[in-house]
Amino acid sequence: MRWARSLSTAVLMVLTALALAVAVGVACTPQQTEAVASRTPLRVCATIFPLYEFATRIAGERAQVSLLLPPGADVHLWEPGVDTLRSLGRVDLLIYNGAGLEPWLEKIVAAASNPRLRLVDASEGLALHPMGGGEVHGHAAGEKARSRGAQEPGAYDPHVWLDPVRAKRQAANIRDALVAADPEGKNFYSARYDALARRLDHLDFLFRTVLAGTRHKDFVVSHAAFGYLASRYGLQQIALTGPEGEAEPSPAHLAVVAGLYRGGGRRYLFIDALHGGRAAATVAREVGAEVLALHHLAALTPTQATAGEDYFSLMEENLVNLYRGLE
Ligand SMILES: [Zn+2]
Repeated sequence: MRWARSLSTAVLMVLTALALAVAVGVACTPQQTEAVASRTPLRVCATIFPLYEFATRIAGERAQVSLLLPPGADVHLWEPGVDTLRSLGRVDLLIYNGAGLEPWLEKIVAAASNPRLRLVDASEGLALHPMGGGEVHGHAAGEKARSRGAQEPGAYDPHVWLDPVRAKRQAANIRDALVAADPEGKNFYSARYDALARRLDHLDFLFRTVLAGTRHKDFVVSHAAFGYLASRYGLQQIALTGPEGEAEPSPAHLAVVAGLYRGGGRRYLFIDALHGGRAAATVAREVGAEVLALHHLAALTPTQATAGEDYFSLMEENLVNLYRGLE
């Protein structure tokens, strides 16, 4: 681990807890069963990486799970291609994030013309942060229970999976959709969901415990993807670009952010490698800030994908980096 040399005692404690969590997660993973030998696996497609991982962990060998957004893609700029449309022709369940993240959803479903295709809104029932107003400054004014089917891009902050508590609800929605599509697998899916839910609970516990004691409570980040995470743990994100992925921050906004570094006290700037990194790197140079990574995880970077990183390993790295940046 490349940051191992600079770890403080507290961070080592986090890592010990993480190691235990991994052991628990392994111990709780249900044994594979022989129940699926004779049936055709369900074909499931998830739009973004976290939902793909949750579906894979819950469905096991009862489903073939594929992922739409390729490694390295910026979720806010990506457009589905011909291959996507072709692959959806054979899919039973399409799991999407919702909350306006996938403005191309209707288009690809119509183009797939697959009467068997069922749509699963993973954010069903989640409280969402409305977008706009002071959002770029990281302050979500309030939460609003989403109205059913609210899909307008730009109405809500879509980055719900970065809050472990909301992520657990997304996993439950995925479990329910798998059970509805394949009722015989109910016990199988439920047991595997329970194991995943325990890991998400533990992740939430770690974030709560580690971040409760930090000296600083706000952080500057290249991409406003961390609003749910921040508000869950009593923090505030100050983002260079908005949650919808505006290309470049305005000079006026850059000046405001640069001003936050004057007078000392603030040393770090967080960069999300897949969005807004270039403008943020310029700001970091100008103000002399040290750069730390925060991963938004809608897609992995190609390096992370090759290294076999997953939702938990990267959220744990997010936690270690947040702790360093806020302590
Ligand atoms: Zn985003």
